[in-house]
Amino acid sequence: MEYEAVIGLEIHAQMLTESKIFCSCSTTFGAGPNSQTCPVCTGMPGVLPVLNRRVVEYAMRAALATEGRIATLSRFARKNYFYPDLPKGYQISQYELPVAEGGTVEVELEGGEKKIIRLVRIHMEEDAGKLVYEGTMTTTGVSFVDYNRTGVPLMEIVTEPDMRSAGEAGAFLRQLRDILVYLDVCDGNMEQGSFRCDANISVRPMGQEALGVKAEIKNMNSFRNVERALAFEIDRQIDRLRSGGAVVQETRLWDADKGVTKSMRGKEEAHDYRYFPDPDLIPLVIDPEWIEEVRAGLPELPAARRTRFVRDYGLPPYDAGVLTSSRPMADYFEACAGTDADPKAVSNWIMGDLLRKHNEDEREITDCPVTPADLVGLLSLIDKGTISGKIAKTVFEEMYKTGEKPGAIVEAKGLVQVTDEGEIAGIVDEVLAANSDNVARYKAGAEKLLGFFVGQVMKATKGKANPKIVNELLRKALSK
Ligand code: ADP
Ligand code: ZN
Ligand code: MG
Repeated sequence: MEYEAVIGLEIHAQMLTESKIFCSCSTTFGAGPNSQTCPVCTGMPGVLPVLNRRVVEYAMRAALATEGRIATLSRFARKNYFYPDLPKGYQISQYELPVAEGGTVEVELEGGEKKIIRLVRIHMEEDAGKLVYEGTMTTTGVSFVDYNRTGVPLMEIVTEPDMRSAGEAGAFLRQLRDILVYLDVCDGNMEQGSFRCDANISVRPMGQEALGVKAEIKNMNSFRNVERALAFEIDRQIDRLRSGGAVVQETRLWDADKGVTKSMRGKEEAHDYRYFPDPDLIPLVIDPEWIEEVRAGLPELPAARRTRFVRDYGLPPYDAGVLTSSRPMADYFEACAGTDADPKAVSNWIMGDLLRKHNEDEREITDCPVTPADLVGLLSLIDKGTISGKIAKTVFEEMYKTGEKPGAIVEAKGLVQVTDEGEIAGIVDEVLAANSDNVARYKAGAEKLLGFFVGQVMKATKGKANPKIVNELLRKALSK
């Protein structure tokens, strides 16, 4: 029997606010253990939480960008459970009345096909602290707890079970990450845990409507691992069904080293958490005017920008996709393409030499040593014939290394292209005289030797001769 996979994701995105969700402690990552704590986030008796307005705004931004409905009245609830990283004994979350419901994300799949993934809801909640120990939980003799992360604001985004393969889930996650990063509400870093994903997955016979029993997979800390874990789990569940077994509803952990998911615990139910409205927090009322204000402040999103890059700059969709994958990169491109420069040439330089250097140095485009104006300057030197495209690569390397202007580098290094026909003709004659045997072979029909002669002339001019003139003069001299 053929089976199909059904996947729904729950994403926890750490919001980029400066302070925590219910107190004024800093959210800066990497500070000394327990240095960013106060009686509120460590759950001392008698303290009261106060909601951070920015957190609501960020959740609204995400909801509006995905066309969700913002609830004008929502509520915080206590989710009760015990764990040492949760000092209050409950997590403040939202349950019955989340800040937003519905919404969609359009995802481009491999091969260019588009698919809409529906969102169930977006809600706000606080993060827990972090246990710190050596080795593994079972082998360590002692464990410490760091409450710096306790109370850091999260938004949880829950999707409908709309994805049908590991690849679709990966594509959705990347698109969602790009949106949140564009919105400046999350840094999207999966490896550091500021963008986390739990995956719910089941399989069912092809054509069956009813959903199968699902497992929830946790502990995947990269896009690649989400896809690997899902691919493994799909195979595991199908194997079980094919061999006459059943899938058990449970939580499973991804083990990236072994490349397998392992049963962790039976699935907890909502009633296990004894959710109830948090009596310390009044219901959250969002004024429609505020919603409109936030909507007006939304930036253009990656998908819209991609479409516009194709339309307005005539870029191939592939280029537009790469260039809009991050907002700073798209801004960099537009700063260049908004001039006289040819947009496709700009795109080639960014996607080629510039990104290659950035990847080598693990550098972000926000601290690129080559400014958009200087890249445009370089392109105009090529256009004017001052330097050849080949020399431009050398100039670019130098610009990247020193941050100097292209004109200054060309001048200082004497890289101006030789276009003087008399000078080139002299070198052509020298090259032909020194290679009379090859000249004879060329004349006898070995025409591909032209490339060899061009190479020799370029070598003699250290790459500075105008290639077009070199070609013309060589053909002329050889046809004599
Ligand atoms: P639970 O009650 O276990 O929390 P929910 O209905 O709240 O389940 O859904 C949680 C997530 O699991 C959502 O992303 C949803 O799309 C997904 N999901 C629910 N049922 C299935 C299923 N049978 N197969 C795959 N994903 C599912
Ligand atoms: Zn605090
Ligand atoms: Mg649920």
